[in-house]
Amino acid sequence: MFDDLRDLYQEVIFDHNRNPRNFYVMEGADRKVEGFNPLCGDRLTLFLKMDGDKITDASFQGSGCAISTASVSLMTEVVKGKTEAEAEALFKQFHDMTTGKEEEVNLEAIGKLAVLAGVREYPARVKCATLAWHTLDAALKNEQESISTE
Ligand code: ZN
Repeated sequence: MFDDLRDLYQEVIFDHNRNPRNFYVMEGADRKVEGFNPLCGDRLTLFLKMDGDKITDASFQGSGCAISTASVSLMTEVVKGKTEAEAEALFKQFHDMTTGKEEEVNLEAIGKLAVLAGVREYPARVKCATLAWHTLDAALKNEQESISTE
C-alpha cells in the first residue's frame, strides 16, 4: 500500500510502528480512555497528565495496525505541552487532512502529522489514523471511558 506516498513519509510511519513513542502505562494519569476501531481491530488506551488545561504528558498502550500505531505514537509526541484548545485545533486539521475535506492543509501547523496524509487515498484506513485523535478528544472532554469509531 501507499505506493504513491513519498518514501520519507513511509519511513516515518514504519519507524513509529516498529518503535512506538510513549508506549507505556502511565502511573497516576489524570485521564485514561480506551479507543477501539472495530473495522480494523485497532485497540488503544490513551493516558494523559494534565496541568489545568495543558497536556503535560501523554502515553498509550494497545495493539493495532501500522497506521493506527504510528498515528497514536506521533500524536502523543505532538500534543505534549499543548493546551486543550490547541490539541482540538490539531485534531480538526488532522481530520480535514485525512478525510480530504481541505484541498490545502496547513502543513506548517500540522507538522510531522503530514506523514499520514496518504490515508485519504484509502478510506478504509482513515479510521485507523483518526482513532488516536477521537480517543484524545474523548479524554479531553472527560466524557467517556471508552470510545468506538463505529
Ligand atoms: Zn487499523
